[in-house]
Amino acid sequence: MERRTCQYCHAFFRPLRNPQQRFCSHLVCQNVRKALWRRARLKNDPDYRENHQHAYQRWRKNNPGYWKSYRVAHPSYTDRNREKERQRRLHKKLVRGRETLRVANRETSRVAKCDALIVEISVIPKGFQQMGGTLQTSTL
Ligand SMILES: [Zn+2]
Repeated sequence: MERRTCQYCHAFFRPLRNPQQRFCSHLVCQNVRKALWRRARLKNDPDYRENHQHAYQRWRKNNPGYWKSYRVAHPSYTDRNREKERQRRLHKKLVRGRETLRVANRETSRVAKCDALIVEISVIPKGFQQMGGTLQTSTL
């Protein structure tokens, strides 16, 4: 039977039932696989996304104040969330900054092309003028 490398933990495993299996059977790897599947499904399947939203709305309605009490009971969660939000804001700012820079560069390069000079560089042999040669400058 074929040996494979788990896409998450990189351990070798043998696919048992599914020949397409990409993750080993460890609990952590299976949780990662399931989370990736769920994330892709939420992104690509509008029905699944809608069902998920309705289920979550129902759950919130049946568990009012859950997140508020969770945040009070888990201050590290709140700190981590604040830090991640700060990172997201910073990332957005950087992306916007990069966009601005890209636009500025594009405009600058357009201007540079308009004002560009065409320069022709020629090698002048030693003693060119002594041999009767003349130098000319010209513009196009
Ligand atoms: Zn694994």
